[in-house]
Amino acid sequence: MQNLKPPKAPKHWDQRFLVLASNIAGWSKDPSTKVGAIAVRDKRILAQGFNGLPVGITDSDTRLNDRELRLSMTVHAEMNCVAFAAKSGVCLAGSTMYIWPLMTCSNCAAVLIQADITKIIVPDFVEPIRWQDSFNAAREMFIEAGVSVHRIPIRGPLDSEEEESDH
Ligand SMILES: [Zn+2]
Repeated sequence: MQNLKPPKAPKHWDQRFLVLASNIAGWSKDPSTKVGAIAVRDKRILAQGFNGLPVGITDSDTRLNDRELRLSMTVHAEMNCVAFAAKSGVCLAGSTMYIWPLMTCSNCAAVLIQADITKIIVPDFVEPIRWQDSFNAAREMFIEAGVSVHRIPIRGPLDSEEEESDH
């Protein structure tokens, strides 16, 4: 008999969406960094994205294994999420973006601000040193633009515990 029960979900909605973003990150073909992003409003998913080469651009081993070339062609998860929403005519204004496992880079931060995303939620993992300058620039921009940034634990209780609900 198969086990038909789904994996145990976190109770807090912010953790649920971060876990979902981590799942989507797994769809990335990037050999070193896999990132997932989802835009959510009123507990509903508006769009999702993961990092990768644009649609129709062949992800050959040559491209994927040459770091410089790969990074120059890669669309980050956050930008893919915004692009996908634009393609399908979905407005992201006022939405929250959940990103796993890293903070947004400054280039993506600029686009998220322009798309009027108002809240960013990322896990409270240790940040890689080489991205630190970009992450700090992103935080500075978000503060100035009035976008709130929250780093939360992926498991366990949160400060602002929100009750599990079915809607
Ligand atoms: Zn980025």
